[in-house]
Amino acid sequence: MKSMTSIAKHPTIALLKSHTTPQQLKQIHSQLVVNGILNHPHFHGQFVATIALQNEANLHYANQVLHHQCHTPNLFTLNSMIRAYSKSSTPHKSFSFYTQILHSPNNLSPDNYTFNFLVRSCAQLQLRETALSVHGALIKHGFEHDPHVQTGLIFMYAELGCLSSCHGVFESVSESDLVCQTAMLHACAKCGDIDSARKMFDEMPQRDHIVWNAMIAGYAHWGRSRDALNLFHLMQMEGVKLNEVSMVLILSACSHMGALDQGRWAHAYVERYKFRMTVTLGTAIIDMYAKCGNIDKAMDVFWGMKEKNVYTWSSVIGGLALNGLGRESLDLFSLMKQDGVQPNEVTFISVLRGCCVVGLVEEGQKHFDSMRNLYGIDPQLEHYGLMVDLFGRAGRVEDALNFINSMPMKPHVGAWSALLHACRKYKNRELGELALKRIVELEDKNDGAYVLLSNIYADYKNWEKVSSLRQTMKAKGVKKLPGCSVIEVDGEVHEFIVGDKSHPRYDEIELKLEEIYRSLRLAGYVPNTNPVLFDIEEEEKEGAVGKHSEKVAIAFGLISSKVVPIRVVMNLRICWDCHDVAKLVSKFFNRQIIIRDRNRFHHFKDGECSCKDYW
Ligand code: ZN
Ligand code: ZN
Repeated sequence: MKSMTSIAKHPTIALLKSHTTPQQLKQIHSQLVVNGILNHPHFHGQFVATIALQNEANLHYANQVLHHQCHTPNLFTLNSMIRAYSKSSTPHKSFSFYTQILHSPNNLSPDNYTFNFLVRSCAQLQLRETALSVHGALIKHGFEHDPHVQTGLIFMYAELGCLSSCHGVFESVSESDLVCQTAMLHACAKCGDIDSARKMFDEMPQRDHIVWNAMIAGYAHWGRSRDALNLFHLMQMEGVKLNEVSMVLILSACSHMGALDQGRWAHAYVERYKFRMTVTLGTAIIDMYAKCGNIDKAMDVFWGMKEKNVYTWSSVIGGLALNGLGRESLDLFSLMKQDGVQPNEVTFISVLRGCCVVGLVEEGQKHFDSMRNLYGIDPQLEHYGLMVDLFGRAGRVEDALNFINSMPMKPHVGAWSALLHACRKYKNRELGELALKRIVELEDKNDGAYVLLSNIYADYKNWEKVSSLRQTMKAKGVKKLPGCSVIEVDGEVHEFIVGDKSHPRYDEIELKLEEIYRSLRLAGYVPNTNPVLFDIEEEEKEGAVGKHSEKVAIAFGLISSKVVPIRVVMNLRICWDCHDVAKLVSKFFNRQIIIRDRNRFHHFKDGECSCKDYW
């Protein structure tokens, strides 16, 4: 198959570069007209094809040239137009050139290039019907066994989410090459069959950076952060260079898992391979350090960045809030405004979080009001939820309710849950019942809400209500989300799910837990029994609190690393008992413990927590 671009270019046409300005383009064009070069159909086609493929502005120009010309375009020119439009923001326009081929006065017929590019347009458009008719047409013209077309088809069906069609095409390929295998791996990863993608990945004789990037994107997209990080580990050993998109995905997997060691490696990798520090990459690094609890390093990177945008600022303001530094986050917000950066709705989420962690109600209210009054931003559900949380945490439960009632839209589960949390903390049964009622109307299987209300009943020692609520949960099939804690030791991520004893060192962990309890009891610790009700399911009762995933992770941290702080990331809010135990362990075992729960960081040291028991 001869290459489309193999025909020698006319020297004047070769002057056209992707950075040619519209002004220069017009000059070259008139020169070609004056010299009569464009009278030659071959050079005319070459001119149109060259500018069409440069950028969208020039594509538009090419389209006009084609429109106002005298002779009929050849297949090469029309294919170039289809190709250019397949990559443009208006891929549907490529079909008019396909129609031109079919109805051409000089009896053109589409070739494998035509279909290769048309299939790419279909992938962009994501229209099933169109895709199927193009597939039908290429079979009719006899190109179903062309390797380029087949690869394109796999790519197209992947974009449409039809993995079975991808398999169908892939199986019809007589001898699949690396490009085709990569397309199939990408299809599996994109459509969620990650394990098949990984199998192909492992079996590939050689893997280029496209394959690595596709695999990492698949893991990241389907929330398999741990696998993404393990792949990153493997990749470093093989010395592959990833692209910026993949590095941002890796960094966000580190943020998600709280994997500081791996995050540091990712940062070192970015520096070693001299990635250009774009705003996106820098922001991802800041976010990683902040979410892994190393806010000092996050600030270092932040101050070192030459270029910052509103997302960079929002991320660092949110990072300070997450680490309990509410005042500092508000100071930074002032600085951002002084710098002339216009805040957006993401910024205000960070700012309101900052107010929440330190209980600055009036200031929060002021910022909330400024959203609409000063910046013309309509507060979204998340902003309203944070305001309810702000009132609720500060003990102003009635104000929280009034705020919910004043919302211009239907209040969401988040707002009612924030109220319910406040009711638990400040022991308000009536409002708690109301909040649960509203939550269940919106989400009838919200496990967290049931558990919270049952804790409120337990606080009042109303065991009848506790047990009737438990029965309601059973009847409705409401299951509690199992607690899950993650801890990173020497760059390896360990995951503990409550009740799961499959960890290879589980026996040692149990011994350590017993030792912890012995020492704490000697120091006067009495287990807080109420949170047992958090574990409302039947099989966990006795000793359930003692085996919360965060405690298991702390015990594992104690047996597997000596001096460094123990860092745990958990999926739920930390319970009172685990919070007490963590404080005591930090004192009696002389170890710093850093726990990131669903809301914020808790830094435990010498028997105290950075949250000052306000969470
Ligand atoms: Zn707990
Ligand atoms: Zn705390």
